[in-house]
Amino acid sequence: MAKRPKSAKRSKSAKRGASGKKPTSVEIRTFQVGFGDCFLLTFVYGASDRRHILIDFGTTGLPKRLGTPKTHMPLVANEIKKVCDTAGLTAVVATHRHADHINGFGTEGKTGKSGTVIASLKPKLVLQPWTEDPKARTDAKKATVDSSRSRKSFVAGLAAMNDVAANIASIANNPPAWMSSSLAGQLRFLGESGIANKSAVNNLIAMGKRKGATAVWAHHGSKSGLDTLLPGVKIHVLGPPDLTQSEKIRKQRSRDPDQFWHLLSGTAAMNGNPLSTGFAWASNGKKNRVPPAGRWFRDRLEQLNGQQLLEIVRTLDQQMNNTSLILVFEVFGKKLLFPGDAQIENWSYAFEDAPDAARTRALLADVDVYKVGHHGSLNATPKKALWERFRKRNKGLKTLLSTMPGKHGSSRSRTEVPRKTLLTELENDSTLQTTTSLKKKTDLFHLLTLKA
Ligand SMILES: [Zn+2]
Repeated sequence: MAKRPKSAKRSKSAKRGASGKKPTSVEIRTFQVGFGDCFLLTFVYGASDRRHILIDFGTTGLPKRLGTPKTHMPLVANEIKKVCDTAGLTAVVATHRHADHINGFGTEGKTGKSGTVIASLKPKLVLQPWTEDPKARTDAKKATVDSSRSRKSFVAGLAAMNDVAANIASIANNPPAWMSSSLAGQLRFLGESGIANKSAVNNLIAMGKRKGATAVWAHHGSKSGLDTLLPGVKIHVLGPPDLTQSEKIRKQRSRDPDQFWHLLSGTAAMNGNPLSTGFAWASNGKKNRVPPAGRWFRDRLEQLNGQQLLEIVRTLDQQMNNTSLILVFEVFGKKLLFPGDAQIENWSYAFEDAPDAARTRALLADVDVYKVGHHGSLNATPKKALWERFRKRNKGLKTLLSTMPGKHGSSRSRTEVPRKTLLTELENDSTLQTTTSLKKKTDLFHLLTLKA
């Protein structure tokens, strides 16, 4: 018999799940990780069929009462294990490479080997943005599945950003005499969140390679791999765009420190200027790695003034945020939005430039649960383009915020995270669950339950 075209029949079954199964409730746990993200979504199909999706697990700052990541992250990991019980994890999602989203997946001492606990839960799927595909060519515009042959080097740029961040953090850890302690603190914080987290990255790769597991690197409009694991749930990948879809995530709309922009861009950065990337080109066009922490590079960085260093490290931070996965889970008519730390450039592809932008705008207008982007930073919740479009503000909208004040930005420049004006609107116009209200050491998470 000839294969039937995939028609209406399929989409009907996709809606309900091939088995006709659908969840009767969803539990969302917002874990206390200080400055970082860690969300566990549990889709309940029955008393003995609970499917758990972990979205991010990292921290770059903990309230003092919680001690250090070395002791706190294993507590969180073991609580996740307890919730998952014998079911294990259905999927792990790492929205982007920043430490405050992934260092909990590390298997080394710094986070008390919390990643080992997560790996023992044997996730069936590891979902990451396309930029994390370990097989992506360094000149990739997309993940390997449909790689192109551009010479521009976005993925290599991200790796180079880790090197630059590491250099800046090392300067801040041993600051020159002129550097104020507040500047050193800001540089250290941003630099350290951008450092490559090898142990976490390797664990994510290993979990995705386990027998019976799948790794997916997604971009706007691509499949997440979650649909088959969560019957009756529709998952939309809204971001990040790959570079064939948008060049915008390579560029920031505002505050382009253009003399440093070539840190990240392809050609200029790759012309053997050690300041740019820590890479150099040989004459045959093959790239040779030079030691990223070379003296020359560090010396040059030290000659820059504090503001210039901050500009660099902020730009790197924003660029990485814009590689965030943006996911919408559609379940029993409710829409749950998890955008990682995506900023305006990532968003704007989804709701302005993409061919399906109108559909995305309609989807977003109808959101019931919003994981507040980037720990409450204003640039991740564009006011007009996103926040004011949520129709359910004041009508049942639920918001989830994982943050810690005093770590990022400053109120003087109105860049403090969480931003006061946004926080006020979240409190006034939605039911907000924020990790800052988890005051006791034993309060490990907020629970939000949605019923069909
Ligand atoms: Zn973050």
